[in-house]
Amino acid sequence: MILESKKTTLAFRCPLCGQSILSGVNLFRISGDLLRLRCPDCDTALTLNKTNDGKFRLSVPCMFCPKPHNYLLSEGTLFKEGLFTLPCALSGMDVLYIGKEEQVKRALEESDKLLDSMLDEEEKEQLTALHRKGGEEEGYDPAVEHVMRFLLCELEDEKKISCFCDGKEEIPLYDFQVLSERVRVFCHCCNAETYLPLRSEADAEDIVKIDALELK
Ligand SMILES: [Zn+2]
Ligand SMILES: [Zn+2]
Ligand SMILES: [Zn+2]
Repeated sequence: MILESKKTTLAFRCPLCGQSILSGVNLFRISGDLLRLRCPDCDTALTLNKTNDGKFRLSVPCMFCPKPHNYLLSEGTLFKEGLFTLPCALSGMDVLYIGKEEQVKRALEESDKLLDSMLDEEEKEQLTALHRKGGEEEGYDPAVEHVMRFLLCELEDEKKISCFCDGKEEIPLYDFQVLSERVRVFCHCCNAETYLPLRSEADAEDIVKIDALELK
């Protein structure tokens, strides 16, 4: 018996140069390792890795936000028939495209048109400048982002995050935003959220010790 290998196409838009990065992904290529789709001209990348419970965690760069968005998808969603897109919670624009190559290309063309109608050259330039500055923003601490990403992965793997998706068919998609004096943790799927204080190093240390999160 020949097992048909599961394939899909993933795409995102590079926030630095604006071009769409598209790549075929084979299920067997993802087993275990971290998969990175890089923009050939910039150093931005979408990353995908498999969690202990067989889901897929994606970190996707976004044109409108300084930080990438995190999504957690089941194998069924990643390799299902038809086009599947995920939006940025802030701008409403799709940032991640999954599906057959043709469908993904068509969706990207649509999004090109939409972007062109929304933004003029000057506004596009301002958006890419936001990403070039990146880590130099005042009060920005990349360590916090790293810790949050790690913490969310841990809690998710251990099923210690709850939201309105619990007990429903929905697959929760957890993400976070580092704000000026706090971190917002939220679920893309049901919009449940919670805020963690982040005013001092002591707060950051407390965040590391969190062992469960209830979003509401
Ligand atoms: Zn680029
Ligand atoms: Zn965004
Ligand atoms: Zn939820």
